[in-house]
Amino acid sequence: MVPVNVTGIANRLTCPVCGNDEVFFELANDVLLTSYYIQNSDGSFTHDGDSTQVNGEVLLFCGSCQEDLTQYHQRFREMIF
Ligand SMILES: [Zn+2]
Repeated sequence: MVPVNVTGIANRLTCPVCGNDEVFFELANDVLLTSYYIQNSDGSFTHDGDSTQVNGEVLLFCGSCQEDLTQYHQRFREMIF
């Protein structure tokens, strides 16, 4: 098989199962989500942001076939800009 590399970027992450190289998702275990609100003068509340704290493992999946790609997770994190 000849590697296809049209962009010239050697580091593109590709799902070994379905070949998807565009959509991926992370799944975080044991997440603490804190939502902040400000109360307005009329008694209503405005959402003022969230903070998340991940205490568990974070897994990486292919967004196309849902294959577990956690073995590539470290490389994935290094390439987020
Ligand atoms: Zn896939």
